[in-house]
Amino acid sequence: MSEQVNPILEYGFRIPFDRIQPEHVRPGVRALLSNADEAIAALIDDSAPPTYENTVERLDSITERVKERVTVVTHLLSVAESPDMRAAYNEVLPEITDFWTRLPLNEDLWSHLKSLAGSEDGRALQGIRGRHLATLVREFRRAGADLEGKDRDRLKEINIEMSQLEQRFSENVLDATNAFQLVVEDESRLDGVPPADRDEARRKAGAAGEKGWLLTLDYPSFEPVLKYATDRTLREELYLAFVMRCRDGEFENVTTIQRLLELRREVADLLGYEHFPDYRLEEAMAKTGAAAIEFTDQLTERTHPYWKRDVQALEAHAATLQIERLEPWDVAFVSEHLRRVRYAIDDEVIRPYFPLDKVLSGLFAIVHRVFGLQVLAREASEVWHEDVLYYDLLDQDGTHLGSFYADWHPRPEKRQGAWMSDMITGRVAADGSMSPHLGVIAGNLTPAKGDVPSLLTHREVQTIFHEFGHLLHHLTTTVPVAPRAGINVAWDFVELPSQLMENWTWEREALALISGHYETGEPLPDALYERMVDSRRFMGGWAQMRQLSFGYSDLKLHLEYSSEKDGDVLPYVERLLDRYSLRPGFSRYHSTASFTHLFAGGYASAYYSYLWSEVLEADAFSRFKNEGIFSQSVGREYVDRILSRGDSAEPEDLFRDFLGRDPDPQALLDRNLGTLAEEVGV
Ligand SMILES: [Zn+2]
Repeated sequence: MSEQVNPILEYGFRIPFDRIQPEHVRPGVRALLSNADEAIAALIDDSAPPTYENTVERLDSITERVKERVTVVTHLLSVAESPDMRAAYNEVLPEITDFWTRLPLNEDLWSHLKSLAGSEDGRALQGIRGRHLATLVREFRRAGADLEGKDRDRLKEINIEMSQLEQRFSENVLDATNAFQLVVEDESRLDGVPPADRDEARRKAGAAGEKGWLLTLDYPSFEPVLKYATDRTLREELYLAFVMRCRDGEFENVTTIQRLLELRREVADLLGYEHFPDYRLEEAMAKTGAAAIEFTDQLTERTHPYWKRDVQALEAHAATLQIERLEPWDVAFVSEHLRRVRYAIDDEVIRPYFPLDKVLSGLFAIVHRVFGLQVLAREASEVWHEDVLYYDLLDQDGTHLGSFYADWHPRPEKRQGAWMSDMITGRVAADGSMSPHLGVIAGNLTPAKGDVPSLLTHREVQTIFHEFGHLLHHLTTTVPVAPRAGINVAWDFVELPSQLMENWTWEREALALISGHYETGEPLPDALYERMVDSRRFMGGWAQMRQLSFGYSDLKLHLEYSSEKDGDVLPYVERLLDRYSLRPGFSRYHSTASFTHLFAGGYASAYYSYLWSEVLEADAFSRFKNEGIFSQSVGREYVDRILSRGDSAEPEDLFRDFLGRDPDPQALLDRNLGTLAEEVGV
């Protein structure tokens, strides 16, 4: 391959996805990393006094190049995985991880940065440059750059042990999930379960050489039984198997949880924080554990009456179903039953009104009307699959802000879910303008079947809007420093632009643009729309309280728990959750032992952020509600004051700039929970 250029290393704005092969990964990534190491060595060797240009800008361009090129490989793994590509990536992954771990622990680099930060020039840096240098210094410190000797070694040890424990935690959850199988031999036990789910259970039984119907703890198998099976003992059996995973036995996670909590406390301690949440949230909008718990407590208090309203409705409806005492395995069933009785609405009624093409053209029309941005389809042949689409995004004056690929439908070699990834962040050109950004938006939306086009559920429509919000955050950024641009914002702020976009999918006038029956072109009928909107708030108090209970127990575990003082961790969580319980003891079936978000998924001390960002987004949308959902003056203000500004200022300042005040949860309560007095007829 010596004659050929490795496509991972050599490309411009258009990435040659169709030419990147597994054999390019190892040499490409290794060359990338050794070039970066050499460039860092040269930066350190530079004897000129450190300046922003010769230190920070130089370091950024080295790290951005590594990030950008590795993203291309991980992107291909998520949309077009092959065993060879996976094997090649797994081989170089430890080298990539090692590069990023070594960086902040490079003492010469750290002393360069510190002497710049302490110099007169460094202290005089203004605006984004000053903010960026301060952030870099903080990131280095947080990674242990200031630790010496034993402490430095100890931090390395802890990091290795923590990543092993997290890995084991998630493997145990996966293994415990897979270890459970329930074969139902009598079909009447599946009464109520939709035919398609029964067929799938029957198919699984056949594949496993069993007679009957095979149920597992995978969500697609477990959920329909909990929601629809009239057989209460079946629901109970499956529910208990689900929540009891990893509490004991072969896949026990309790000791791992206790050890992780200890180690996280030790990290905070080594780095000089009072506790783990203060360390974890220093770079979040909440800033401290105390602020996060205060947010959770206040929202709990305000949600409580709505939760009571929902509990009463559930209990009353349970009685009509001959369930005298509501148990945890009844909740999904009773709630789903009540929802159908009240709103007579389901996905299949809605789908014909949301063909994918109509939803996309409507979305682009909304984006044009509200933000003045234009989306134009373009040709692209250098893609990873023939279904992939390519677009340009133009500003109102015609400036090319960025481009994106869209890959909407499932394929066997593509990962689950929907996501946006930022491929290239534009650079500042000689004339001060920015070169365009590049992103990818991907999903697993219902595909076309024969003559029937791709028809979406409303949830899928929301998903498109959500990911498009992330995409706009990236493509509209005007921040000239890539690590502070676009979606590189505080953890509890990053979902504001995405969730905000979802609001349009609930507005009558916007639905007129994004819906149209695939056979008749008729927009979503009024009666259907009203039922959809009513059902949106259904059990909102219950759902919100559940989220709050997760956020609360997460924070308390990381703020206060110690095994010496509080005993075993599972009964401790149960005591915490009593506050959120229907009656004492109702929360004994919590699934902390399999809660991967907290112990293997990066949400430790940060589960509250789901609701935090929802508060921001609902509140921000209230301006559109009040001044017009298509108001371009509000839309442009939003682009100029929040969307395009990335992490160029504190998130609370961006928010205040747009809304004129601090966030207020009232808009969220109004939107998600309705009014307390509201009587809903059955
Ligand atoms: Zn998101």
